[in-house]
Amino acid sequence: MLKIKKNDKVEIIKGKDRGKTGKVLRIESVKDRLYVEGVNVMEKHVRQKDQSKPGGIIKKEGPIKISNVRLICPGCGKLAGVGFEVRDSGIKVRICKKCKQQV
Ligand SMILES: [Zn+2]
Repeated sequence: MLKIKKNDKVEIIKGKDRGKTGKVLRIESVKDRLYVEGVNVMEKHVRQKDQSKPGGIIKKEGPIKISNVRLICPGCGKLAGVGFEVRDSGIKVRICKKCKQQV
């Protein structure tokens, strides 16, 4: 079970984008990285191929190491340490270590 999920709001805690926040767009758990909306945006220059596809600059989010981000708890709004808890029903849930809410 991953500590960070798609559509989570996260804050970057390390590196050049430290302090920025955004929504998780995509996770590549195998490569230990994810993409956060508006963070680590890279510009890619695209050459014009034909009349219908003009060239120019495409902006695209670059990968960020999963360990460099921290979840912002939707319950308490703080940077959350994430834990896991097994509920009575036997279902494992993700919880915020600060407010103990399921996130
Ligand atoms: Zn919380």
